[in-house]
Amino acid sequence: MTDAVVVGSGPNGLAAALTLARAGLRVEVFEAHERIGGGLRSKALFDSEVLHDICAAVHPMAPVSPFMRSLDLEGHGVPLLHSPAAYGHPLKGRPAALAWRDLDATCAELGADGPRWRRLMLPLMERSADVVELMLSTQRTPPNARALAVLAPRLAPLALRVGGGLRTEAARALLTGVAAHGIGRLPSPAAAAVALLLGHLAHTTGWPVPRGGSQAVADVMAAHIERLGGRIHTGVRVDSLHDLPARRLTLLDVSPRELARIAPLPSGYLRALSRYRYGPGAAKADFLVEGPIPWSDPRLSRAATIHLGGTHGTAPQLARAETATARGLRTGHPYIIVVDPAAADPARAVRGRRPVWAYAHVPHGDTRDPLPVIRAALETHAPGFTDTVLAERGVTAARLGAYNANYVGGDIASGAMSLWQTLARPVPRWNPYRTPLPGTFLCSSATPPGPSVHGMCGHHAARAALREWPEAGPTAPARPDQGTRMLEG
Ligand SMILES: Cc1cc2nc3c(=O)[nH]c(=O)nc-3n(C[C@H](O)[C@H](O)[C@H](O)COP(=O)(O)OP(=O)(O)OC[C@H]3O[C@@H](n4cnc5c(N)ncnc54)[C@H](O)[C@@H]3O)c2cc1C
Repeated sequence: MTDAVVVGSGPNGLAAALTLARAGLRVEVFEAHERIGGGLRSKALFDSEVLHDICAAVHPMAPVSPFMRSLDLEGHGVPLLHSPAAYGHPLKGRPAALAWRDLDATCAELGADGPRWRRLMLPLMERSADVVELMLSTQRTPPNARALAVLAPRLAPLALRVGGGLRTEAARALLTGVAAHGIGRLPSPAAAAVALLLGHLAHTTGWPVPRGGSQAVADVMAAHIERLGGRIHTGVRVDSLHDLPARRLTLLDVSPRELARIAPLPSGYLRALSRYRYGPGAAKADFLVEGPIPWSDPRLSRAATIHLGGTHGTAPQLARAETATARGLRTGHPYIIVVDPAAADPARAVRGRRPVWAYAHVPHGDTRDPLPVIRAALETHAPGFTDTVLAERGVTAARLGAYNANYVGGDIASGAMSLWQTLARPVPRWNPYRTPLPGTFLCSSATPPGPSVHGMCGHHAARAALREWPEAGPTAPARPDQGTRMLEG
């Protein structure tokens, strides 16, 4: 008998496995795909030397997540690299808005909104550790009062009005582009929280990309697990928990829908799971391009992440597009995130050929090829972009859901990001990780603290499992593998 089995090797599955392995348990991981990593997979799509991130590319949570920090990525040859600006936002016929790492440089370019941007961001930056602790918590501990004190007065205006109290088009667009990472109606409390978290991190620890692509992060996690004696099996889609080897603990990096499919759950819990809602989808385009993106405002090439939305990129246009998408309506000008990793990691461009990735928010399960819409949006703000494209492919939201069972209908957050579901995912229980099956825990981003690559859903779930099953596995003290820093608490 093994001590623990983890199903799924996304960042949360690997985080759960590593947390258990560090506690001295023998762990086996089963992954449906041929390659580990879930949302962290990278692959050469068109040119054998140019790597594309299939899902996550930019990692604002990696420098601040306690779990990710414990990996010592830099010590394992995977430094987090930064572009001079964390993100940018083109505006038709005007200079682009940029969030530079440097707060002063950002404020200096925002005109009348410079002092407002500083008043919004600086207190969050000064309390960043508290804000991150609150946002990456299980949402079941007393909230960090210092974080609440800086968040609450900023959250309300942003949750009620597009752009909060900002007045200039540039600043409003800049902030709304970040809020839209929340994938849903705008404005909303959940989107406001996302804007404040990601917005202030742009000016502190940044929005970095891991050197060589996201797969390198998953590979570091896997190496730690294997060094501690864990085993990882790929190409094994688990269709029933009965098919797994005998074990004391089971951690599932799967969507609530997949949980209901593979686990013999009691009807009450199944009913609660059936109330879980999935959100809009993402439809992705991958491009192999020759040379830098020809942005109308060349300063945008200094940011690895660019937000596009509407014909002119303004905040109201973007908010309308997001709200329509959340209601299941197709829009001709959806919100689009473009990532140019070579802006932060020049080695990602080989012989001038670079990977460029973009996804549009689309209605749940949308089957429309996103390439025309994404290409057109890029052409609007980077005329001549199409001429730089050497190869391309589009992945519909529906296909994204088939590629990874966690992205139901292309919902990359594995569950709608409403305020309710942010706090009560997947079901309103005191322990959101525990299922009614003995020793069986959900650990995917459908649990708190939710989506993004931080590994904290997996880490919290593993800790919940260890707390509830103290007899599980050997009683040996936690053992860090060589070169790994132990995670406090
Ligand atoms: C296109 C796209 C772009 C993104 N960009 C970013 C970004 O830039 N930055 C960021 O922070 N986040 C980004 N995300 C979100 C991020 O990837 C996810 O939040 C994160 O990967 C969730 O981790 P997870 O471990 O919960 O699930 P996943 O990473 O989805 O991993 C789940 C794994 O479980 C496996 N699995 C599921 N069911 C089974 C089964 N029955 N049997 C065996 N294996 C199974 C799947 O194959 C998969 O490998 C992006 C996502 C997508 C799709």
